[in-house]
Amino acid sequence: MNEPRAKIVIIGGGPGGYEAALVAAQLGSHVTVVDSDGLGGACVLTDCVPSKTLIATSGMMAALDGAPALGIRPDTGAGGAALATVDAPRLYSRVRDLASAQSADVASRLAAEGVEIRHGAGRLVGPHTVAVGDTELDADIVLVATGAKPRELPGAVPDGERLLTCRQLYDLGELPPELIVVGSGVTGAEFASAYQALGSQVTLVSSRDRVLPQQDADAAMVVQEVFRRRGMTVLSRSRAVSACRTGDGVTVTLEDGRTVRGSHCLLTVGMVPNTGGLGLEAAGIALEPGGFIPVDRVSRTSAANVYAAGDCTGVMMLASVAAMQGRIAMWHALGEAVQPLRLSHVAMTVFTEPEIAMVGVSQHAVESGQADALVVKLPLATNARAKMQGFRDGFVKLFARRSSGMVLGGVVVAPWASELILGVSLAVEQHLTVDEIAHTFAVYPSLSGSVTEAARQLMQPADDD
Ligand SMILES: Cc1cc2nc3c(=O)[nH]c(=O)nc-3n(C[C@H](O)[C@H](O)[C@H](O)COP(=O)(O)OP(=O)(O)OC[C@H]3O[C@@H](n4cnc5c(N)ncnc54)[C@H](O)[C@@H]3O)c2cc1C
Repeated sequence: MNEPRAKIVIIGGGPGGYEAALVAAQLGSHVTVVDSDGLGGACVLTDCVPSKTLIATSGMMAALDGAPALGIRPDTGAGGAALATVDAPRLYSRVRDLASAQSADVASRLAAEGVEIRHGAGRLVGPHTVAVGDTELDADIVLVATGAKPRELPGAVPDGERLLTCRQLYDLGELPPELIVVGSGVTGAEFASAYQALGSQVTLVSSRDRVLPQQDADAAMVVQEVFRRRGMTVLSRSRAVSACRTGDGVTVTLEDGRTVRGSHCLLTVGMVPNTGGLGLEAAGIALEPGGFIPVDRVSRTSAANVYAAGDCTGVMMLASVAAMQGRIAMWHALGEAVQPLRLSHVAMTVFTEPEIAMVGVSQHAVESGQADALVVKLPLATNARAKMQGFRDGFVKLFARRSSGMVLGGVVVAPWASELILGVSLAVEQHLTVDEIAHTFAVYPSLSGSVTEAARQLMQPADDD
C-alpha cells in the first residue's frame, strides 16, 4: 500500500524556500511554495545576484586600472586618456535582466519538479494551516523562509532617489558621482569597493576602528589600505546618526557633529527579519528579541511541525546557509538521515577588490586559546603568478592543529579568493592534514600554489626519539 504523500507548504521562495522545495519534491511530497515577490527571493532579485553582477563589472574596471602596469597604454585619441568608462544605464539593465532570468530559471526548475507555486503573502493561521489571501492550505509540515529586509536608521529614511538601501541602487539612471556609504560591514564594504572601481568618489562611514570589524583583522586591514590607496575616504570611529537630502545632494551627520556631503547615500546598517504578520504566535512560536525565529541545528522551531530556514532565523545570513537549512529541514521532517548544520564549516567571501574568503577557525579563536593551532601567513607578493598578474595585495593564511597538523581553517585575500578557498574548505571538511595538502600538486605558477606552500611551512619534522 502506498504511503499518503506528505503535504509541505513553504512560505518564501528564496534559497531557504526553493532548495527545500526541491528536496521535498524529490522525496515524493506534495509541495506548495507561497511567495510574495518573485522566486529566487531577495537573494536572486535584489541582493546577492544583482550585487555580484554589479561587481563583475567593477572587477573588470579594477583590472583595467592595473592595465598600464602590465604594458597596456591608454588610447589618448578621441576618447581621452581613460581606458574605459561605465555605461550606467546599460550596467543596471544588465543587472536587472540577469536577476529576472535567474528568477525565471528557479521558477522553471520548481515547475519541472511538480512544485505548486502560489503568488501572495502567506501567514500561519494554525500549526497546520497557511492562509494566502482567502485561500487556506492544509499542511503536514510548514517551512517559514521569509528572509529579511534592510534596516533603516530612524534619522535616515530611504527615499529611493538619493537616500538608498542596497535594494534601490539598480533603478538609478546614473552612477552616483559622490557616494557616501554608511556602514562598513560586508555589504557596505562590497558596495564601497565596487562603486569606487566603477568611478564614483566614495566616502565610507564606519562606526568602528576599521572596516569589516567582524572579519579577520589582517584581511580587513589589507582591504582598508587598498580602499584608501584607490582614493576612497574611509572615516573610522564615525557613527552616522542621520542623513537628509539637501538640494541635489545629501548630508550625513555624524555623532560628534561632523557632516559629510555627497550626491547619494547608501545605508548598509544591517538587516531585520521578515517575521511580522506571519501568525507565528498562532502556531505557538515565540520570536527572539530581534524578531528572528529561534531554530535548532535541524531547522526545527518550537512548534512540532513548523520549521524555519534562512535569514528569518538570523543564523549566518548567507544564501548557502539558507539553502542548507532548508534542505536539512526537509530531510529531517521527511525522516531521512540528516547531518545537523555545522556553521564552523561554512566557507564565505567578502566580494571586495581584492576578495576575502575564509573557512573554519578564526585568528581570534586561536589568539583567545579556543583553538590550539599553528598559523602561517604567506603574502601574495611572494607568489610568482601574483607577480605576473600584477597582484600585490593579499595573503594566504592557514591554521592547523598543533598536535596533529589537521587543517582547521584558512583565510585567503586575493582576486578570486572565493574560488581559491575551496581547497582549504575541502581540507577542513575532510579533516586533511597539512602533510596531505603539502603532498598535493598545485599548478606552477598559480595562486593556489600559496595554499600548498603554506601547508609545507606548517609541516612539523618527525620526532626522531
Ligand atoms: C546586498 C547583499 C548581497 C548579498 N550577497 C551574498 C553573497 O554574495 N553570498 C551569499 O551567500 N549571501 C549573500 N547575501 C545574503 C543572501 O542574500 C541571503 O542570506 C539570502 O537571500 C537568504 O535567503 P532566504 O531564503 O532566507 O531569504 P530571501 O532570499 O530574502 O527570500 C525570502 C522570500 O520570501 C518572500 N516573503 C517574505 N514574506 C513573505 C510572506 N509572508 N509570504 C510569502 N513570501 C514572503 C520574500 O519576498 C522573498 O522573496 C547578500 C545579501 C545582501 C543584502
